[in-house]
Amino acid sequence: MHPEFERLRQACSVEARHACPNLQGQHARFADFARAEVARLLDQRFLAPAPVAALRAPLDRYETLPPADRARLVQDLLMALDPPRAPEPARPAPVGSTRPATAPAAPASKPAAKGPQGLDMGVQFVKGVGPRTGEMLAKLGILTVHDLLFHLPRTHLDYQARTRLRDVKPGDRVTIWGTVRRVETFVPPSRPNLTICSVLVHDGTAAAKATWFQGKMNKLRTDQFKQRFPVGAQVLLSGEARADGPRGGISFDRPDVEILGHDGEGQGESVHVGRIVPVYALTEGLPQRTLRQAVHTCLQTFGPLVEDFLPPVTLAALDLPTRPEALQGIHFPESMPERDRARDRLAFDELFLLQLGLAYRRAQQRDQAALAMSGTGALTQALREVLPFRLTGAQERVFTEIVQDLARPEPMNRLVQGDVGSGKTVVALLTLLVAVENGFQGALMAPTEILAEQHFRKFQEWLAPMGIPVASLLGKHGKRERAPVLAGVADGTIPLLVGTHALIQDSVSFHNLGLVVIDEQHRFGVKQRAQLRAKGLHPEVLTMTATPIPRTLALTLHGDLDVSVIDELPPGRKPIVTSWIGQRQRKDAWNLVRTELEKGHQAYVVFPLIESSEELERVRSATEEAETLAREVFFDWRVGLLHGQMDPVEKESIVQAFRRHELDILVSTTVIEVGVDVPNATVMVIENAERFGLSQLHQLRGRVGRGGDQAYCVLVTATQTEATRQRMEVMTATQDGFVIAEQDLRLRGPGEFLGTRQSGLPDFVLADITRDTALLEKARKLAWKVIEQDEGLQRHPALRAALFRHFRTNLGFLGVS
Ligand code: ADP
Ligand code: MG
Repeated sequence: MHPEFERLRQACSVEARHACPNLQGQHARFADFARAEVARLLDQRFLAPAPVAALRAPLDRYETLPPADRARLVQDLLMALDPPRAPEPARPAPVGSTRPATAPAAPASKPAAKGPQGLDMGVQFVKGVGPRTGEMLAKLGILTVHDLLFHLPRTHLDYQARTRLRDVKPGDRVTIWGTVRRVETFVPPSRPNLTICSVLVHDGTAAAKATWFQGKMNKLRTDQFKQRFPVGAQVLLSGEARADGPRGGISFDRPDVEILGHDGEGQGESVHVGRIVPVYALTEGLPQRTLRQAVHTCLQTFGPLVEDFLPPVTLAALDLPTRPEALQGIHFPESMPERDRARDRLAFDELFLLQLGLAYRRAQQRDQAALAMSGTGALTQALREVLPFRLTGAQERVFTEIVQDLARPEPMNRLVQGDVGSGKTVVALLTLLVAVENGFQGALMAPTEILAEQHFRKFQEWLAPMGIPVASLLGKHGKRERAPVLAGVADGTIPLLVGTHALIQDSVSFHNLGLVVIDEQHRFGVKQRAQLRAKGLHPEVLTMTATPIPRTLALTLHGDLDVSVIDELPPGRKPIVTSWIGQRQRKDAWNLVRTELEKGHQAYVVFPLIESSEELERVRSATEEAETLAREVFFDWRVGLLHGQMDPVEKESIVQAFRRHELDILVSTTVIEVGVDVPNATVMVIENAERFGLSQLHQLRGRVGRGGDQAYCVLVTATQTEATRQRMEVMTATQDGFVIAEQDLRLRGPGEFLGTRQSGLPDFVLADITRDTALLEKARKLAWKVIEQDEGLQRHPALRAALFRHFRTNLGFLGVS
């Protein structure tokens, strides 16, 4: 590039960096300056007229242009000043636009040294990073230039608006910046065990003293102290100012200090002082300054290699800065608003790349051959006649959506969300019957034995009058029981199979499996779902969950699923009367239980158990409490005890007994299995309710209120902390699973809300899905639009590269091996 162009180029890039506000420079606004410069360069023939001629007219109207046009114009100017040297490569289509693939986009002025390894070069290529620093960085997981550029600051300190010492008054909490004038250590004669260390600092307006009181120090330590504060060094002091002496002096007791270097240490100044300064996560032995300097140098050298995978048009529409600008702005912002915009851009990228991954994966799956099932309706109609109830409007609507999916020659990928008790099971069975009508087999997979068994029994009961066989495959089944089931499944005489993940084991082979329903899908890992596919089956998949996931989270985790919501409970359900009491009022709870039992109803009492190393200890004490309850409080009732150490057969027989009303009270030291359905149970007491998360409490409470009778839930807590109070208030105030889930997400954050970290998905560093809802929606829209136009991202190589880099630790997620 011609050196004469440098000033204009700089102005353009600064203007672009700030999203084209027509910045006020030192002497003129950007547009005025640019017009004058273009005129000068043309005049002096530095600039060939042709490329800029077309830009002059819009530049004259710069003030009146909308931001998108300004951005494009500035980019075009940059391009004219520094056209790409190499023969132009086929230009990728701008993201999210329908313009032809030749549209001019992409920033200009890339350094020529764009080696193929670029950002993947080792971090030791950053000037000033020696082997020792390199080792430290490796401990932080920083191996490459890219890693260092994306080691984002934890926070920033605003040293920009430093306070002048002259203006500091006693009591102010301030940060000042000055030069060390004198360092002293001193032992007061009256306190021989004390050493007072002080540093006198002057900032050009006034002086202040910083003081530390230490235990007795030997010569070595006092020397060390003095070495830390060489006279002439620049220091930052933060702390509360105190009056010192009668003449209005100021001092700081034990302030936070950062030593910034010496006067005249040119570069050091712009990195560490007088600006907004980034603060990074460190590792032992790596000073903040060293890391900060390394990032700064790295940005200067390699920052220009960072490509933006979104074109200016798109960014203008989203009102976001470019990726290189955002990187600069997140590390070394010139203002806090700039930093916030930078954060938004990078958070957007996290959300966008995840959505793009989901969309990409979905598109790959779409290419798989899929079945088209358009049922006759004969079996589903027959089932409706057998059912003791009519479907709710919501159940009908969701089933219709499913039927439409099944009729399409693409694999179904639908998630049914429905609050506890909303009646998902019957929708599952209807769906399975559509497969059977079409001559396929169907399978239902549930996360636990108890649940699988319960579904199996229900299916048997409903299907018996229709003469359709259904079998179950459970972990507890021995070889003898399995053999006929496996045979029937293999030869197709068993059309419907219910089970746990035993279903996807190697020994199970289907005659022609066409549909799989996964109940409580959040309890299955990504792995298990992949296992299904690995069996070489491409069945239609319907997933169901009773954990109502807030919309933002659903979009994040299931961006590639269609979602149906059963948002209506079967008629006649009365709200569950929920109350919250302390342990001393427990008697009231027992009285309520007794009243219900006397009406012929049943009750649950739940003792929580946290997974921990002391689990055995806890089992014992919770079990003891439960036994005491059975012996001393409810001795005249039939009480069953369920705990985690029981084997599955024993567990199942207790649940069975409760189901058949051979037990009045089910005391459980584990969480009662999700989905247990005993409509005659009308009251639940939850001990130590503070130990459960909101969503868990909601699930538990959903075990009662499943019939037509008034139901009750009593939450007994041992603590009264603020967190407990908040949760109990939510529980007593509402029964809407979505509201509860939103609150849960808000109170606990996404990681914990999901129980385990959602395996398989890259972590969010900046994005916060509880707050970045708007960004998420935009990211999702754009990602799906891009994939719609370019399934394999062939026309978006930069995006494709960014996507694969983002998912580099889990390419399997994208369907890439
Ligand atoms: P969940 O959505 O929690 O899995 P279930 O499918 O177990 O709920 O249904 C809860 C209870 O409601 C069951 O006893 C079921 O038979 C019953 N049920 C389902 N649909 C209806 C309906 N439309 N009318 C009345 N009762 C229904
Ligand atoms: Mg269920």
